[in-house]
Amino acid sequence: MRVTDLWTKNARPTLSFEFFPPRSEKDEASFAKVVDTLAELKPDFVSVTFGAGGSSREGSYQLVKKLIQEKELGVIAYLAAYGLGPDEICSILDTYADLGVENILALRGDPPRATEGLTPHPESLAHASDLLHFIKGRYAFCLGGAGHPEGHPEAASKARDLDYLKLKVANGAEFIIANFVYDTRLFFDFVERCRAIGIGVPILPGVMPIYSVKLLEILTKTCGATIGEEVRKGLAALPADDTKAVAEFGIAFAIKQCRELLEQGVPGIHLYTMDRSAAPLAIVNALKNEKLL
Ligand SMILES: Cc1cc2nc3c(=O)[nH]c(=O)nc-3n(C[C@H](O)[C@H](O)[C@H](O)COP(=O)(O)OP(=O)(O)OC[C@H]3O[C@@H](n4cnc5c(N)ncnc54)[C@H](O)[C@@H]3O)c2cc1C
Repeated sequence: MRVTDLWTKNARPTLSFEFFPPRSEKDEASFAKVVDTLAELKPDFVSVTFGAGGSSREGSYQLVKKLIQEKELGVIAYLAAYGLGPDEICSILDTYADLGVENILALRGDPPRATEGLTPHPESLAHASDLLHFIKGRYAFCLGGAGHPEGHPEAASKARDLDYLKLKVANGAEFIIANFVYDTRLFFDFVERCRAIGIGVPILPGVMPIYSVKLLEILTKTCGATIGEEVRKGLAALPADDTKAVAEFGIAFAIKQCRELLEQGVPGIHLYTMDRSAAPLAIVNALKNEKLL
């Protein structure tokens, strides 16, 4: 299943979940339940992250294998090229092709944080656009790239960042998965700016439910996303340390965001699950009840 075919052929928007490979044996048991629960929602596809520098190579492979072979799910496998040499990239892609993976999200990865102590391969690729070019010339995967609605934190400007996104498309990206935002207007503005410079491929919005205040702060700081006024005010109004109230607020906010996105005709909803099921389950059930999904 090439994901772009789903958007061409499906009359309805897609539902998809992002997972990362469990980090320990202890996590594995609870994660298996998460996958079972969310698989019952019949997502159109799921995606699996990849630790930059190859740090999660085996875990990502095992998870992709399980999702395809045991759960019979369509998968987008991510590949973060930072630090990897051409032979290693090919070896990873060969194993994915052998599993029947048809979709790859080509990423640079985050060098300083995820790969401390790693000496990058001398021929490693500097940018996602280079990885796309590399894969496109050698494999038949349906390729995608990451989009940063608020601009990537290292980008010289939002406009320059968008030029590089256009280069990703020129180099083979047939779809874009957008990073999360906490003000849906930022996503719509991003799509408008993409279309204005000729980026015509489907742009799938990523939605990151607020799982906790701490996680919200870490994630937004890491990728430079802003916490919109509505979220700030909503969280400030809750009793301090009330984790249940925060989780409920997070679910309600994500449902509202998804509703706004779906009503504007986005190709689908891509939920960043952080390997949790309660919030994604509540969000999807609400959207299904409203017949939005
Ligand atoms: C949907 C999604 C999934 C993700 N999954 C993962 C994951 O599984 N593993 C992981 O490690 N990280 C993941 N990330 C994080 C991602 O790796 C980081 O955001 C990383 O810092 C940038 O990745 P990129 O692919 O957008 O890089 P790039 O497109 O290479 O962009 C990185 C920076 O370089 C600039 N740039 C781009 N191309 C060029 C060029 N040709 N010349 C000069 N400058 C250029 C851009 O403006 C930007 O500032 C994900 C992000 C998103 C949005």
